[in-house]
Amino acid sequence: MKSKLEKFIELCNAIKICDRCELHVTPLCGEGNLNARIMLIAQSPGKRENLCQRMFVGPSGEVLDRLLEKAGVNREDIYMTNLVKCHLPRNRKPKQREIEACSNWLEEEIALIRPEILVPLGFFATKYLFEKNGIELPEKRKFHLVYGKLIWTGKIKIYPLPHPAFLLYNPQLEENVMRYYRKLAVFKRECKWRPVCPMTRYYREGKLDKKWIELFCKGDWESCKRYQAEEKGVWHPDNMLPDGSIDKTLS
Ligand code: SF4
Repeated sequence: MKSKLEKFIELCNAIKICDRCELHVTPLCGEGNLNARIMLIAQSPGKRENLCQRMFVGPSGEVLDRLLEKAGVNREDIYMTNLVKCHLPRNRKPKQREIEACSNWLEEEIALIRPEILVPLGFFATKYLFEKNGIELPEKRKFHLVYGKLIWTGKIKIYPLPHPAFLLYNPQLEENVMRYYRKLAVFKRECKWRPVCPMTRYYREGKLDKKWIELFCKGDWESCKRYQAEEKGVWHPDNMLPDGSIDKTLS
């Protein structure tokens, strides 16, 4: 039986010789922690990434490193990859047929790494994951509203973020974008109260919808009203849901 690392090396070798579309020059495989809970999905390698055959080593990589450092996340904590594996000439937008030809590689990476949360960076990676999972896309002028919102599809969690390159052109918005990136530190682990929390018991007993566990206990536990009450030592009833509402059917 092959190890995860062996399977990953095999996958990368297959990606490197891919000629499924006309872009095929130097496809770049993803990199990072193969057991990561968080998978960052960018659009495509930039010029420098293409030259060095490494993820995020160009100007947007500098921005990403700054955002991750401020958030308290290391590159070793995450896995990073691209929707389209080859550099796009003159940094043009990817064509639909290129995304269709290439996205099978991304699906193979997701199946192998099995991250808890997919984090698409920017429009194209977010659009791809939304369409794939049957999530309605907002109109383009309202697209920014999807950033920083954790979504549970019933199978996987998606947390869209602005691409770091966005800040190269809009540096004044770094503090706003940083608020979204900060959640990555939360997603690195599950809620510490999970083993003793009544929500865990209710879920095991089949009384609680899985979405509460996914969105809060294994997702954004920092926003959970139960977690916040526990941290402050404030009494709260066992049937209080993570959003603070009361479910009288729970006992
Ligand atoms: S319900 Fe809230 S406090 Fe309980 S395990 Fe989940 S996130 Fe933590």
